[in-house]
Amino acid sequence: MINLKRIKIPDIKKIREWKGALTAELVQFPGKFGLGRLPKRLEPDATTTAVCGFCSTGCGLDIHLKNGEAINLSGKTDYPVNLGMACPKGWEALSPLDAPDRALTPLYRSTREGDPKPISWESAINLFCEKFKRVMDTHGSGSVAFLSSGQIATEEMAFLGALAKFGMGWIHGDSNTRQCMATAATAYKQSFGFDAPPYTYQDFEESDVIILIGSNICIAHPIMWQRVLRNKNKPEIIVIDPRKTETAVAATRHYALSPKSDLTLLYGIAHILIQEDWVKHTYIEAHTEGFEDFKEHTAHFTPQMVSETSGLSVKELYEFAYTIAHGKRVSFWWTMGVNQGHESTRTAQAIINLALMTANVGRPGTGANSITGQCNAMGSRLFSNTSSLFGGRDFTKASDRLCVADILAIPLDKIPVNNSLAYDQIIDGIDEGKIKGLWIIGTNTAHSWINQERFRRIAQKLEFLVVQDMYSTTDTAQIADLVLPAAGWGEKNGTMINSERRIGLIKKVRKAPGEALSDFNIFKLIANAWGCGAEFDRWNSPEEVFQIIKDISKDQPCDLTGIRDYQMIDHAHGIQWPFREGDILTSDQRRLFSDGLFFTPTNRAKFIFEMPNAPSEQINHHYPFILLTGRGSSSQWHTLTRSGKSDVLNALSPDCLCVEINQEDAALSNIYTGDSVTVESSRKKIICVARVTPNIKPGQLFMPMHFVEVNKLTQDSFDPYSRQPSYKYSAVKISKTKS
Ligand code: SF4
Repeated sequence: MINLKRIKIPDIKKIREWKGALTAELVQFPGKFGLGRLPKRLEPDATTTAVCGFCSTGCGLDIHLKNGEAINLSGKTDYPVNLGMACPKGWEALSPLDAPDRALTPLYRSTREGDPKPISWESAINLFCEKFKRVMDTHGSGSVAFLSSGQIATEEMAFLGALAKFGMGWIHGDSNTRQCMATAATAYKQSFGFDAPPYTYQDFEESDVIILIGSNICIAHPIMWQRVLRNKNKPEIIVIDPRKTETAVAATRHYALSPKSDLTLLYGIAHILIQEDWVKHTYIEAHTEGFEDFKEHTAHFTPQMVSETSGLSVKELYEFAYTIAHGKRVSFWWTMGVNQGHESTRTAQAIINLALMTANVGRPGTGANSITGQCNAMGSRLFSNTSSLFGGRDFTKASDRLCVADILAIPLDKIPVNNSLAYDQIIDGIDEGKIKGLWIIGTNTAHSWINQERFRRIAQKLEFLVVQDMYSTTDTAQIADLVLPAAGWGEKNGTMINSERRIGLIKKVRKAPGEALSDFNIFKLIANAWGCGAEFDRWNSPEEVFQIIKDISKDQPCDLTGIRDYQMIDHAHGIQWPFREGDILTSDQRRLFSDGLFFTPTNRAKFIFEMPNAPSEQINHHYPFILLTGRGSSSQWHTLTRSGKSDVLNALSPDCLCVEINQEDAALSNIYTGDSVTVESSRKKIICVARVTPNIKPGQLFMPMHFVEVNKLTQDSFDPYSRQPSYKYSAVKISKTKS
């Protein structure tokens, strides 16, 4: 067993090795660390089940109760997602609920300079309505917006989307899923006709070739990695990542491409597959469209040209293509390394194209598979009523609006005819004086938004900023005019949808502290106070809203009408969409497109492509390094709002911000591991600790995104189709900090 006390910061190399070993031990032997064990006096008297509320894996957890309150938890052994395992965050899911900085009452700051003061719920809701209405009366209904979260229940997202857009007359609202999954959603919609990740987790175990692109799955999705390790086919595991990540170390092959050369690389691989006639003509002809144009497009991407751009040798390119062509069941997986790029939609589609041309879709162990980030990003994509109309429909299509108006029995003119501004456009709108009021729910924009200083500066222009969150101390809550205290995971009921389209339940197993209310109940209070409560007569509890969501999903690819109620989800251990009325659940591992029929009007998947572009910010004489960002460890979750509240998770995480630098670059600047260094972009300068490592190439630096300083450096550029921020490429310089 690892001795925690022997590790001294800043021995960063040791921390990293220890952290990795400890995480692996925690996943497999949690009892060794005291997790899952209870003192005798706290023997549980009942157990219930819920899905974890951190990441999109959606692990099933047994929650152990005493007198109806959760006292501990363990991985659910018969849940088809995690098979009894849980990562450190899952094991520690209850700890953040007990944090001392929970928001206990509404807080109001009457002047920006003043301290926030506790106020009653009645006053808070009256202020909310009065101030936002005043903004709308003065500046129009387009002058207010909300930013929601992939961390709240589907029923809550749906209520918020319906309340704001159909009840309160707001036009603009987006979600933090824009930062994580907008690219995958856009790519699937355009290529497959619907935002439909085709896979099931069993595919990790059935492939003979697993290709991970921009995905450090070992630490970002450790339970999915455990599923890879259960694969009995001795799969070739290929990692495409500029860094030698934990996953790259564990893979059979690592291609360390140059940052943001991924689109060129993928087109180059397609070119070789075509040139060598390693494509599946029968599948292409029967189930796709646009291949001939794509073939012509790939002719530009000769092995020599791709080798120069990507940094891989021509031999490596052929090896890579050969492995894809000769694999029987090839699965392609991607996540933020792809999604958070300046041309991310086309990059995701370049992956989809490879899967289509080699007929690796719809069979066990195959697929062009985006791994989601947040626990309910998939719920947000389909049912938040933000970037798309309920159920994956389109605000701009009259027939879709009519359909939703009918289902919800609301006047047609209540439904906006235009799409909302996207997250970045809402922020630009504040800067331009068009958006004057902002309501942020369950997300920490002042930490997580790209080029964070700009957001903080712009936020000062708002006439009214409301933050609804579990904690009054988040970076964003601290700059809010009004804070509404919200219940967290474990303190409310609802459903979440994981990466493989599985609907799982979250349950109220704790009472929320103080006067905190579930997001659902806050929306209900606001609906009544705003004067549109009558429109939400049927929206009385999460389970009632689940029935409405079912109606909304009817006849869409994400049809849930066959799910009777919450009890059915519980008994089935989660149910993947689609599950239509009359369907019988014969398997708990269901994938899409086994019939080769896609959701486009022609039922054919589309080859979509475009010439690559360079990132808008380039390294130069002043800023000669490319800054990459990503997840730091499996014990840290995003902005640490929750995971930072657990002593166990903190003990498993580095307690200082480190920047990884290659030894050649470090030697040139006389930098050693543990040195204080200054990293600077054209936006900001920050101080952190150096970690010298061969795992990153010369000319590149890496920082984990969990520390608030990191997004002071990042450059705000966006994919033009998904509007997802490009966190993975900023020009910076580094020097030893002068004492
Ligand atoms: Fe599973 Fe993700 Fe929760 Fe970890 S954080 S237990 S991987 S759902």
